[in-house]
Amino acid sequence: MALIVQKFGGSSVEDAEGVKRVAKRIVDTRRAGNDVVCVVSAMGDTTDELLDLATEVVPTLPTGGREMDMLLTAGERISMALLAMAIKSLGADALSFTGSQAGMLTDARHGAAKIVSVTPGRVAEAVERGQIAIVQGFAGFNKVTGDITTLGRGGSDTTAVALAAALNADVCEIYTDVDGVFTADPRIVPLARKIDLVTSEEMLELASAGAKVLHIRSVEYARRHGVTLHVRSSFTSATGTTVVQNREETDVEEAIITGVASDLSEAKITVAGVPDVPGKAASIFKVVAKAQGNVDMIVQNVSTIETGRTDISFTLPKADARQVIEALESEKAELAFESIRHDDQIGKIALVGGGMRTNVGVSATLFEALSNAGINLEMISTSEIRISVVTRADQVADAVKVIHSAFGLDNEEAAVVHAGTGR
Ligand code: ADP
Ligand code: ASP
Ligand code: MG
Repeated sequence: MALIVQKFGGSSVEDAEGVKRVAKRIVDTRRAGNDVVCVVSAMGDTTDELLDLATEVVPTLPTGGREMDMLLTAGERISMALLAMAIKSLGADALSFTGSQAGMLTDARHGAAKIVSVTPGRVAEAVERGQIAIVQGFAGFNKVTGDITTLGRGGSDTTAVALAAALNADVCEIYTDVDGVFTADPRIVPLARKIDLVTSEEMLELASAGAKVLHIRSVEYARRHGVTLHVRSSFTSATGTTVVQNREETDVEEAIITGVASDLSEAKITVAGVPDVPGKAASIFKVVAKAQGNVDMIVQNVSTIETGRTDISFTLPKADARQVIEALESEKAELAFESIRHDDQIGKIALVGGGMRTNVGVSATLFEALSNAGINLEMISTSEIRISVVTRADQVADAVKVIHSAFGLDNEEAAVVHAGTGR
């Protein structure tokens, strides 16, 4: 008998029909002779709607506070209870658990809590009794403060992987509104193709570059704990994408390019007129770090001979920009820069592929495709298996499409997006 952890995202449980459909699927897995633990996200766009509601009540409410976590976890509380009811109505036995009841212990950082330990005793007991355990995704509990936390947007994937690791499950299945991990977001590139196998290294790069099909921390967690991840659709029975630890585990040849991801959630800050002397960048980024700015890409211009000054630009999550700018402005005299520019109309595109290590000419093809499409590059950064570029936000979708074509990734048929709003 296998133990399967199944996670259902919001788009799979968009409405009452969705809850019933998912319940049937879970019961089928159980009746096929498996032990089943399910993790469920909030229905449809509930989390965004709750966030909107909070902004209506208090326009400046910071995300990541205690009350915000109390509010947002209400979404998963609804879906977990409804799912347990729907399963019972099909004649199987189910029991729902909140994050804290399921032993999802985290640190105290609201809005972005990290899992410190998982003690799913009650979940294991339920499974032992033959029940289907339904666990609230996204939610955690801090023992010191006694408060409810959340794992960050998209965090239900991480709940599922952490439970799968703690329960020593055979597989962790992530059910969503597309058939698996594609070579690009099928909402942007309809001709994106499904990838059968992806390494966790490639998946980490894709997720960190904006492919929200998997929460980045779920991929890290699965890698560290050796959890097998299978991303698939809850709307069909088609096989999805398996995330493997190493290419050696398979006999599938490594592709040069795995996929293209994009991200519109970052802003660019330029600190202009910085004296080009040793230690300046260090002082600037010390201030940025103190203000909790999560810096991604950095570019420093060549300084002009006349002034001996340079510009330093960096990208960071839009939500971090305000506090970082305030912190830099407050140290202006000490840092001796001339001005700060803030640009929130940028987008990032990343090309990812394990085979880039051993292939020359990838960047040339990339830059040529973008230049043929008249798309200007503002920043470039590379790692062993990724090239990232920054462009204007309104050019990102076109850029992703032309890059996808230029690397011959286009499929003959359009991918199916089964549900969801893409929000
Ligand atoms: P869920 O509600 O199931 O958690 P998400 O909305 O978080 O679903 O993630 C699924 C979505 O991720 C897809 O609908 C798709 O638009 C988006 N996505 C982005 N990049 C990719 C990719 N490379 N492959 C598949 N889906 C992707
Ligand atoms: N409901 C949460 C969100 O929308 C968590 C999740 O869906 O994984 O971010
Ligand atoms: Mg998700």
